[in-house]
Amino acid sequence: MKIAASLVALAIALVLVSTAPASEPLKALIVDGQNNHGCWPRTTKMMKKYLEDSGLFTVDVVTHAPQGADPNFKPKFTDYAVVVSNFGHGAAAWPAETKTVFEDYVRGGGGLVVIHAADNSFPEWPAYNEMIGLGGWGNRNEKSGPYVYFGEDGKLVRDTAPGPGGSHGPQIEFPIVIRDAGHPVTKGMPATWMHAKDELYDSLRGPATNMEVLATAWCPKTKRHEPMIMTISYGKGRVFHTPMGHETYSQECVGFITTLQRGSQWAATGTVSVPLPADFPTAEKPSSRPAG
Ligand SMILES: [Zn+2]
Repeated sequence: MKIAASLVALAIALVLVSTAPASEPLKALIVDGQNNHGCWPRTTKMMKKYLEDSGLFTVDVVTHAPQGADPNFKPKFTDYAVVVSNFGHGAAAWPAETKTVFEDYVRGGGGLVVIHAADNSFPEWPAYNEMIGLGGWGNRNEKSGPYVYFGEDGKLVRDTAPGPGGSHGPQIEFPIVIRDAGHPVTKGMPATWMHAKDELYDSLRGPATNMEVLATAWCPKTKRHEPMIMTISYGKGRVFHTPMGHETYSQECVGFITTLQRGSQWAATGTVSVPLPADFPTAEKPSSRPAG
């Protein structure tokens, strides 16, 4: 009888699995509205298209008032599997209630994707700094947390010496070096790939707790290997963070596009099914898709 009951249970389980919606699109929300990068309306459109092009996402956008605080900025985060921030430096603090709802959303298992200057935002918001792991500018310094980089020995360094958080040199093309090839986001990527012209953020600082650095870039200015692809866990939530993506041409990089698609899927679900495209950059050659 026991075996028969187990078989019935197994049959029911199989039916449930087979009838589960296999390709229900993931809901993504891009939040924007205040960014020191004037291209933000364009990069929001580009990132929306990149996510939709993956075939995995439907994407909504909620835009904060352009100046000052916005008491009406109350996105329904819990409707989404992942929130992508296209905010930037100097963004006004979100309403207290929105901050609390957002913290609960990520802590409860929501996904967050942090692009470029979104790691400049909200220096005074402790929970946000924990979510992004590392940030820059906004008077960030050693009090914000250690400066995190990779040493020549390939080991992660948490440098607590005093100094400002956040800097960059002239825009250049630069190689991205994969440090964890086993992570779903980086799996199958060339060990080194050439990123299109971008700002190479350096000297980022933050709590850097529960953070893994998946890729770095050697910075000619600091002569250190700066974090370029990071994952952070915050409660049950997954955060994907890349300081890449300064301008539209930076976001046209196929490496950026693939990393965004994979990072967003990972933040939403913990898994990645986005394949590496045939036009992915190589160690020597960057590769871009003009957004038109
Ligand atoms: Zn920038």
